[in-house]
Amino acid sequence: MRQDARETLRERFQFRCGYCEVRERDVGAELTVDHFQPRSQGGMDEADNWVYCCHACNEFKGDCWQPDSSQRILHPFRDDVATHTVEQEDGTLRAISETGAFHIERLHLNRGPLVAYRRERRLLEAARLTQARLLERLRRLEQQVQTLIVQAEQLERADPNP
Ligand SMILES: [Zn+2]
Repeated sequence: MRQDARETLRERFQFRCGYCEVRERDVGAELTVDHFQPRSQGGMDEADNWVYCCHACNEFKGDCWQPDSSQRILHPFRDDVATHTVEQEDGTLRAISETGAFHIERLHLNRGPLVAYRRERRLLEAARLTQARLLERLRRLEQQVQTLIVQAEQLERADPNP
């Protein structure tokens, strides 16, 4: 694979695993290139058939290729993955279709470290939201204090010796 093709692929997948969404910077390394239709099953070695994915997902997927079955791997772009799986509060993925169930099972998408990663990501998102709300509240309080200062100054000017 040519270096520029690899760079394009990484960007297309936003430096994340196409299957479990873990990022390069989370695993501390570049990820692997999966042939969605395995070469052993007639898949071509070309951009259309490449999925950027982490080592674990690539291993678990192996040479799975059952495109006409409900027991198949979902493609990150060609399938609407959200209609097959849903992330739960506790960080696990729940299947909402037969294909989703197969996809989760085959790729081991509820493996311990991945569930922990999703849970951490959820906590971080919640903390960011809280921080944004607090900053907004602080900004409003500062405005109110500023208004009160201006009013106090006006009162002082109107009646310098109460
Ligand atoms: Zn992965």
